[in-house]
Amino acid sequence: MKYAVLNRGDELSVSLTETFHRLAEARGLVRDDEEPEIVLSIGGDGTMLQAFHRYINRIDHTAFVGIHTGHLGFYADWKPDEIELLVHMMAENRSKDQINPRIVRYPLIELELDREDTGKKTYIALNEFTLKCTDNTLVAQIDINDELFEMFRGDGICVSTPSGSTAYNKSLGGAMVHPSIPAIQLAEIASINNRVYRTLGSSLILPKHHHFDIRPRQGQNLLLSIDHINIRLSHLRSIRCRVADQRVTFVRYRPFPFWKRVREAFLGYDENGCYPTN
Ligand code: NAP
Repeated sequence: MKYAVLNRGDELSVSLTETFHRLAEARGLVRDDEEPEIVLSIGGDGTMLQAFHRYINRIDHTAFVGIHTGHLGFYADWKPDEIELLVHMMAENRSKDQINPRIVRYPLIELELDREDTGKKTYIALNEFTLKCTDNTLVAQIDINDELFEMFRGDGICVSTPSGSTAYNKSLGGAMVHPSIPAIQLAEIASINNRVYRTLGSSLILPKHHHFDIRPRQGQNLLLSIDHINIRLSHLRSIRCRVADQRVTFVRYRPFPFWKRVREAFLGYDENGCYPTN
């Protein structure tokens, strides 16, 4: 099996990367940074975002797995002291129960930018994208399925995937969506409401067969953030958003239930209602 590793760059993550390469070589795994079948992310969820975008052109051929070197991650479930077990399972291509590992596929956002200067270009987001104005408040028309829905004015707009619903979207009061649901969520960032600009106020969750367009008022200097990547734009006509046809693939060598992750990350207690001691 061909693999690649991406790490956060801190001392522990770099040292774990070296250990992984050593153990993997001994087990016959082949390092291939260009065409890996499995990409291991060592760091946090931010590292997984980087790994995803590094191999975005191969998402149909690559699966991801993560070791977290900080607190429990939403994308990274393995602990540093389990590295030998992980290499063993990857080499055997077996899960902890001695059966084939589970493959889970999470929905992504496709966003098609229509720019006056460069025309149309498509991007993919794993967590979310946000659109903000760098000078003043953002003014934009939102159309759903080609019909005017609302006129937005405020700090910005956040469009998230189900797996990204626990990230920026959560800070905005958006709903948490299970990643088995192919949907995208539009959440407002501090909208201003009056007679001219009126928005719904609650976040919207759209199914796979719907799309919406964000049409910013012309002349605004915009900041588009796709996961951790920032792009400055000044000639944007619209962004068309929908659930992407592609999905991101994760290999699960053991169960990693979404609601358990939510409980442990945000409520802090385990399945017995106890707070962990560490
Ligand atoms: P960062 O500012 O270094 O990290 C932002 C935090 O978001 C980190 O604690 C990160 O976890 C966590 N995170 C990332 N994906 C997550 C997910 N799916 N569920 C729960 N938490 C998640 O920025 P970064 O490392 O470049 O990551 C970019 C992400 O930051 C964006 O995709 C956005 O979601 C998030 N962000 C959040 C806010 C906010 O909540 N107000 C504002 C801006 C950006 P790790 O520590 O494990 O990496």
